[in-house]
Amino acid sequence: MAILVTGGTGYIGSHTIVELLDEGYDVVIVDNLSNSKIEVLQRIKEITKKDFKFYEVDILCKEALEEVFKTNSIEAVIHFAGLKAVGESVAKPLMYYNNNIVGTLVLCEVMDKYNVKKLVFSSSATVYKMSDYSLTEDSELGATNPYGNTKLMIEQILRDIYMSDNSWGITLLRYFNPVGAHESGLIGEDAVGTPNNLMPYITQVAVGKRRELSIFGSDYNTHDGTGIRDYIHVVDLAKGHLKALNKTLNENQIEVYNLGTGKGYSVLDVVHKFTKSTGIDIPYTICNRRPGDVSVCYADSSKARRDLGWEFEKGLEDMCRDSWKWQMLNPLGYE
Ligand code: NAD
Ligand code: UDP
Repeated sequence: MAILVTGGTGYIGSHTIVELLDEGYDVVIVDNLSNSKIEVLQRIKEITKKDFKFYEVDILCKEALEEVFKTNSIEAVIHFAGLKAVGESVAKPLMYYNNNIVGTLVLCEVMDKYNVKKLVFSSSATVYKMSDYSLTEDSELGATNPYGNTKLMIEQILRDIYMSDNSWGITLLRYFNPVGAHESGLIGEDAVGTPNNLMPYITQVAVGKRRELSIFGSDYNTHDGTGIRDYIHVVDLAKGHLKALNKTLNENQIEVYNLGTGKGYSVLDVVHKFTKSTGIDIPYTICNRRPGDVSVCYADSSKARRDLGWEFEKGLEDMCRDSWKWQMLNPLGYE
């Protein structure tokens, strides 16, 4: 029996596959390579010395997806495949609703047809109506952009599926800010074009690809005026998926978990920690706030600790060091 990983050549998917293979799972990957490179497969093999199956398939293509279920004995699905750029989702909502929502509907239809009813889904902290305190799974929901709406809608769809058929087991994982890379430096986040997120921008400044970091706002109500986020090492996040998978395989229920560290760091905290752990200065300028940004966002992950037995192990220094190692060894990403 194998675990099907949709979006498995992407950033979080590739790190999760390393953990799955290390734990002895058989893995089948489906990805249309719209935001990832085929080279990642070789890197995963190099790290794990294990083999797996890969299908270049778009999850919107039901026939192709069915073929994967027909030819493999799938036990459960970890569903990463989706588009994730907030700004792009505002400009191209139809593309986001179609890819993320219709893609998930097709996947669930095929799962249902082949009687595979165990699913771990990548949701996001963007589903919360943000507030200045730590967010629990019961905090108020409310997304502010089409990307976030797709995550909220998919969560609802999955709840409805479970309501209709209690033999499903579904885990919704709400990630906070995944950063870092595998300690080997062989896999990491391959940001295409100008990075939107803080850590890839910092590493691109460090490697000389960008002149300086623009810090979006220094007038937030935080200890140094810059925005606070809950950064989580991607390997800790990947390990969270294994814990969630284990529970999902054994229980027929739908549950939601935050995966964050519960520690908030400001933009300047990250910049200073990056310099401390790599010895590289990051020149920056303070700019206007980025529209849509909140001042503070961090998780209460005590439910994941309690129910999944998951605990993060890596701190901000590890996140900075591993992000830098990946960038340094792969200045052009996987190219
Ligand atoms: P990513 O873009 O690196 O990986 C997503 C993968 O899905 C890519 O390889 C892409 O080619 C593939 N894909 C997209 N649409 C597809 C389709 N229709 N058919 C087949 N493959 C398709 O993104 P990531 O950072 O690894 O994120 C994985 C998941 O986690 C996404 O669903 C994302 O929304 C969610 N998430 C990410 C973050 C983050 O900050 N990285 C935070 C919260 C949630
Ligand atoms: N940020 C910044 N400069 C950048 C990218 C991000 O100052 O080039 C800030 C952003 O305003 C936020 C924090 O860094 O306060 C994290 O931003 P990111 O986009 O990584 O995550 P998100 O805002 O989606 O949680």
